[in-house]
Amino acid sequence: MLDKYGRNINYLRISITDRCNLRCKYCMPDGCESVPHDDILRYEEFLRLARIFASLGVEHVRVTGGEPLVRAGAVDFVRALKAVPGIRKVSMTTNGTLLARYGEALAEAGLDSVNISLDSTDPELAREISGSDGVVDSVRESLALMRELGVPAKLNAVLLADTAASLVPLARFAEEGVPVRFIELMPMGVGRFERGLDPDAALGILRGVWPDLSPAGLCIGSGPAHYYVSGSLAAPIGFIDAVSHRFCASCNRVRLTSRGYLKPCLCFEAGADLRALLRSGADDAELERAIALCVFNKPRQHCFDEPQEITEAHLMSQIGG
Ligand code: SAM
Ligand code: SF4
Repeated sequence: MLDKYGRNINYLRISITDRCNLRCKYCMPDGCESVPHDDILRYEEFLRLARIFASLGVEHVRVTGGEPLVRAGAVDFVRALKAVPGIRKVSMTTNGTLLARYGEALAEAGLDSVNISLDSTDPELAREISGSDGVVDSVRESLALMRELGVPAKLNAVLLADTAASLVPLARFAEEGVPVRFIELMPMGVGRFERGLDPDAALGILRGVWPDLSPAGLCIGSGPAHYYVSGSLAAPIGFIDAVSHRFCASCNRVRLTSRGYLKPCLCFEAGADLRALLRSGADDAELERAIALCVFNKPRQHCFDEPQEITEAHLMSQIGG
């Protein structure tokens, strides 16, 4: 599927729920309201859309949330996505807390890879950020389990002003062969009230320990991360720095929220209400047209440098990251 700037859109993120078992302060702090169950698409509805997206050229689907593994049936959904003709890769972004329970079933269902989020290896700081105890241990255990199961895993950490001291311990996961990516805090939802850490400053901190960290022309998966390698690290360190280093020109993705709303760009509210179409009896051709039109009109670039231009007011947990 080409947009009007000639970008090939072949990657779809599906947020299957806006609910989560954690309360990360930059994403979904305590007190956020959940979308009513009836407003959230049923798996059959997601699958119907996934088939249409695949027929239009989407090859990679990432299942996200909220926390995708809090929704019953997530494993079967992964299995069903894997069976959709044209979808070559199904991945998941998760906080890792439920992988001990579902990891084996996900591997058996054919999950191709997983991104696990953790912002600090300091248990106290991790609790302060996520609102929950035990996340560091559960992520360590999840990474070990995914390795044992042969499912490639990466670690994602949001760069926060108060996690500067956590960068090196987080990066040490790369010594064990896990690619680690640092995500620049985006001024979306409640994220706009948090203080982030500049990615260049973060790289400087890492170079204090691994001075040979140098840019690598690596591309792992469908992501926008740019990577650095060191002779002392078994895996690369990546940065996803959408705010300070715009990568919109090579953006290949669109997002489907749990409410069935198709978002062509994170920053903007404009998109297509596929749920309304689905539930008003639209046939596949109508859905196809709505998707293709929305993708065609994907904005040229985000507006993080001018936050007053951001029209998207939903939380990241409602969009899927
Ligand atoms: N619950 C899952 C998880 O935490 O991995 C999946 C959903 S979460 C919304 C997806 C990703 O978005 C996580 O890595 C999270 O850290 C990131 N995220 C949430 N809010 C963000 C923000 N304001 N800026 C940058 N990343 C954010
Ligand atoms: Fe939940 Fe993920 Fe948001 Fe944290 S980042 S509150 S784990 S959805």
